[in-house]
Amino acid sequence: GPSRDEILAMRKQFANPAVFTLYREPLLIVEGHMQYLYDETGRRYLDLFAGIVTVSVGHCHPTVVKRVQEQVATLQHATTIYLHPSFPLLAKKLAAKMPPGLDVTYFVNSGSEANDLAITMARLHTGHRDVIALRNAYHGGSPSAQGLTSHHTWKFPAGGDGHVHHVVNPDPYRSPFSGTPEEIATKSAREIREIVRYSTPGKIAAFIAEPIQGVGGATHGAPNYLREAYAITREHGGLCIADEVQTGFGRTGEHFWGFQNFGVVPDFVTMAKGIGNGAPLAAVTTRSDIAQALTQRIHFNTYGGNPVSMAAGLAVLDVIEQEGIQENARVVGGRLKAGLQRLQQSHALIGDVRGMGLMLGVELVRDRATKEPAQQQTLDVLEAMRESGALIGKGGLDGNVLRIKPPMCITAADVDFALDALDHALTLAAR
Ligand code: PMP
Repeated sequence: GPSRDEILAMRKQFANPAVFTLYREPLLIVEGHMQYLYDETGRRYLDLFAGIVTVSVGHCHPTVVKRVQEQVATLQHATTIYLHPSFPLLAKKLAAKMPPGLDVTYFVNSGSEANDLAITMARLHTGHRDVIALRNAYHGGSPSAQGLTSHHTWKFPAGGDGHVHHVVNPDPYRSPFSGTPEEIATKSAREIREIVRYSTPGKIAAFIAEPIQGVGGATHGAPNYLREAYAITREHGGLCIADEVQTGFGRTGEHFWGFQNFGVVPDFVTMAKGIGNGAPLAAVTTRSDIAQALTQRIHFNTYGGNPVSMAAGLAVLDVIEQEGIQENARVVGGRLKAGLQRLQQSHALIGDVRGMGLMLGVELVRDRATKEPAQQQTLDVLEAMRESGALIGKGGLDGNVLRIKPPMCITAADVDFALDALDHALTLAAR
């Protein structure tokens, strides 16, 4: 095959220039097995970013590979205009994972499509147009999901479909409000009421939030935030969308879905990434009375529900259940978070450690009092971690949050290795 330099040159010449790479010297990845990735020299890396929180049960997990290979050799594609068992089977299994009533699913291929479709259904069902989203959110790159996104790095001047309003983020670390996290949550939720009052006809179609923000840097409000936000949304005729693209499928450890950590029941659950372990698969689950609105016209998605993606989704659910993946996320994630909190005591660079299970963020600041974002140091930590053989991500509004979200098959020994590598990287970055 082509060399690393040839690949780079081809990308430079033939790829849309918006396609970017991480690292000063782009990393060539040729293989993956469970929580490890391998470059062209055979060097092994502990993957702490999971293909951007997508490889949920492990790279090339043998069960997923086997079931996908069998399906691709039997029937790759036919579309939902014919019957095939795997589509309703996966929908049924997802319903079993949901609170009662959330039991009908539409399959699509990406998180952006899932959020687009949820917004479409919310608008059709309610008859209202306005949508509330959180600042710092990432909900996708399609024109409609772009409008929901509120993160300057990802926001195009001409993006969005309008009628979306962004409210204050309930993250206590950078809140403009003062008080306890619970008080900040209440004040933040009240912003929704103000926005509805001043900027909408008084009724809204939906409120959308990631229970724990992904790209935004593992930010989330106190447990009362979503409860109060959902109540205010419903008071104004709106439906509540939980964007579980990153937080779903056991990643937060304690619960299968992120929203369950906050004691709320949404009207829509959008999911992608971890559901397919890398297969392009996403979905929107909602109540059947809400979904009914979408039958007013024909709605169709060519690859939605295709047998290969369904095989991947079914295999992922089986593996999560059979291999104790969610419990592992809870236990190993707890060990990782405790280790990160210990590092916070010895490294002044760490301003905040947050998240749950294996959905963790470490915010780096130049000064704990001013909270000035440590962007350069964040990049330096990424590079030093790579040198040590561990791959992490970055995010946050100012690109100063380390994002640690490995495949959920990661072990305690991997966690200890990652913490040592991070300890070393933070020491180097602080120089
Ligand atoms: N929602 C969230 C929370 C995401 O993190 C992402 C992707 N980073 C999306 C939606 C969009 O998903 P996709 O890239 O599959 O369109």
